[in-house]
Amino acid sequence: MLDALVIGAGQSGLAVSYYLRKYGADFVVLDAADTPGGAWPHYWDALTLFSRAEFSNLPGWPMPHYDGYPPRDHVVQYLTNYEQRYDLPIRRGERVSRVVHRDCAFTANGLTARNVVMATGIWSAPFAPFVPGSFAGTQVHSAHYRRPEDFAGQRVAVVGGGNSGSQIVADLALAGVDVQWFTRRPPQYMPNDVDGEQLFRRNRARFVAIARGDGDPGGADFGGDIVQVPEVRRAKEAGLLEARGMFGSLSELTDFDALIWATGFRPALQPIRGLDPDTPGLYVLGFDNLNGPGAGTIGGVSPFARDIARKITGKL
Ligand code: FAD
Repeated sequence: MLDALVIGAGQSGLAVSYYLRKYGADFVVLDAADTPGGAWPHYWDALTLFSRAEFSNLPGWPMPHYDGYPPRDHVVQYLTNYEQRYDLPIRRGERVSRVVHRDCAFTANGLTARNVVMATGIWSAPFAPFVPGSFAGTQVHSAHYRRPEDFAGQRVAVVGGGNSGSQIVADLALAGVDVQWFTRRPPQYMPNDVDGEQLFRRNRARFVAIARGDGDPGGADFGGDIVQVPEVRRAKEAGLLEARGMFGSLSELTDFDALIWATGFRPALQPIRGLDPDTPGLYVLGFDNLNGPGAGTIGGVSPFARDIARKITGKL
């Protein structure tokens, strides 16, 4: 009988593992992937963090410095080195399809533990809204978008007015791909000087206020939700980020060869479907809307991970 089973070895799984190790827990991490880095290796080639390395630290060991916004591969390398540095007990190629709860214990993939931490992220649960009609071209979700070269010579529609949508449109347009952006409402940009650092500070202040029992002061109103990372700013200044209102039917897209859904994700919690979320010993980690402000970011997950590890080990 283990103290804990952690499912998922992305940044959230690593953060809670750090504290479980620190507090002396006997635990195992199960991860479906064969390689480290959680969702990061799957993101598109040009993706950078929206905050500098100093604001993207997991507990114990800060992200190495990078001039400017760290690219995807810098994050993957950091997470790879992190799990090696702490010699975390990660078993790879272990997809969990179901967590069973019986007699005050959880069982998954033949292992039994008193506690389970679902750190499964969002990447494996992409979401796209239902739109009537049919589309003859290629459809992909932003989860599987990689690079503009894959769309060379095509006319591409991108749906979604958030950060992924704006960044993918910018990536395609700056590479000369013929792209049209569709959004439900006009894109709302944060001011030029607002990036992940301000979001991080705000999330931390909210976390502290909630932890003190002062209530949630709420998110800051930055006048929009799109962070102007350098690529977005460049495309915007070049007039390449013009959005059109959302189409009512897929059948309207006869002029397009490909359609990219940048319409978000849901928590990948299928393995615990049917379990009462209040089951003692059952924890989820890495979701802003389930844990609290910043829990879904590299720099913000630590206090939530520490809290869970303390509850599991009784170190309150
Ligand atoms: P993941 O990284 O998705 O890791 C989950 C792990 O669980 C994976 O290794 C997966 O293999 C495993 N897993 C999933 N299901 C199972 C299962 N059933 N059984 C076994 N294993 C399973 N945050 C920032 O702080 N800064 C940013 O700049 C930033 N940019 C982002 C850009 C994009 C496009 C997106 C989508 C998110 C971004 N985020 C950013 C948010 C966040 O950092 C990432 O979503 C991050 O990957 C979440 O980490 P995680 O560990 O919670 O989940």
